[in-house]
Amino acid sequence: MPIKENISLKKLNTFGIEANAKYFAEFNTEDELLDILQTTVCKNNSKLILGGGSNLLFTKNVDGLVLKNNIKGIEKTTENDEHVYIKVGAGVNWHQYVLFCIENNFAGVENLALIPGSVGASPMQNIGAYGVEVKDVFHSLDAFHIYDNYKISFPKNQCEFGYRESVFKNKYKNEFVITSVTYRLNKKPIFNTSYGAIEHELEKLKVGALTIKDIAQAVMNIRRSKLPDPLVIGNAGSFFKNPEIPALRYEELKKTFPDIVGYKVSESKVKLAAGWLIEKCGWKGFRLGDVGVHEKQALVLVNYGNASGSEIEQLAEKITLSVSEKFNINLTKEVNIF
Ligand code: FAD
Ligand code: NAP
Repeated sequence: MPIKENISLKKLNTFGIEANAKYFAEFNTEDELLDILQTTVCKNNSKLILGGGSNLLFTKNVDGLVLKNNIKGIEKTTENDEHVYIKVGAGVNWHQYVLFCIENNFAGVENLALIPGSVGASPMQNIGAYGVEVKDVFHSLDAFHIYDNYKISFPKNQCEFGYRESVFKNKYKNEFVITSVTYRLNKKPIFNTSYGAIEHELEKLKVGALTIKDIAQAVMNIRRSKLPDPLVIGNAGSFFKNPEIPALRYEELKKTFPDIVGYKVSESKVKLAAGWLIEKCGWKGFRLGDVGVHEKQALVLVNYGNASGSEIEQLAEKITLSVSEKFNINLTKEVNIF
């Protein structure tokens, strides 16, 4: 596969940030990936694996090799009375895969409809929405070691999935290229409609006997009404994670901020809505030049046109500081900064 030089990444990241890659290579198969991994350019440079570019922020040019994953393919590997196992190429668009599941009545990913990005990135941060996380349907993945070039399979119990976390975002950061993911889907759906506005949206849709297609439609309607479309306004979804704090600390905060939004995650932990904290600091709808905070969801930072990655990062720092000053809570970034 040819390795190109000095390639613009502007159209390859949903923030729409102008940044160049010193070297750039795309691969459509595992063999093509192996060829690239064995080149001198690859061996002598730092590497950045790119999927759909919807969870990253470029703050400078990439002084290394960008590896763009285009491996396609969706196949059923096995099934039993309850489950079907689907192996999907890492370069498949996540939402296209969700639509495939819905068409075939394979249940489990309907609440994750319309999340941008690639299948290969889905285990990276254990993508989640509306009460479902990828770990709930994850079976295993195949990956190549980026330096030693061996192929390895990771079963679920080796992925260390957590809230928007996995071993690939931590211990093995930048060490493996994920080439395919196998999901275990349910033949008989287990509906999850209790989260957020799903029930309300289903009522509006006036559905009869509930199907996974209805849930996906409700989720898509809600998402389209609240979230900026990256094709129109540059963004990478939630910029920060929702912080988890001790339940006692939450009770303390409630005395000063009675309407603070929190959800119990265990007996001792409460998850706060970071969007609420940011909004209460006055940032919702903020705009300076081409950088801003989305007017409908304060967790989403936006690029209205020609913002630079460092401008967005600076805004994120200011927001973090004001949340820390007002609530004494430290926000951490969900988006990967390069
Ligand atoms: P990229 O942005 O290309 O990469 C993200 C990280 O994964 C990088 O570190 C990259 O190096 C690494 N990576 C990518 N592919 C591979 C691979 N094959 N092997 C190894 N490493 C890899 N996320 C949610 O969890 N829930 C949501 O509801 C949600 N909603 C969103 C809504 C909008 C409008 C947007 C813009 C984003 C949203 N996101 C959401 C964030 C994002 O869509 C997900 O994190 C998605 O999984 C990123 O996929 P990607 O292919 O674009 O990854
Ligand atoms: P929302 O429904 O306004 O809720 C605000 C926050 O409160 C969410 O982030 C969610 O945390 C939490 N929450 C709401 N209801 C909950 C419940 N019943 N139990 C536990 N936690 C609850 O959020 P939204 O911004 O419109 O997003 C809706 C869903 O899409 C959320 O799951 C969100 O994570 C996901 N989403 C993610 C991204 C991203 O880039 N990561 C972008 C857009 C939307 P959780 O985030 O933990 O679910």
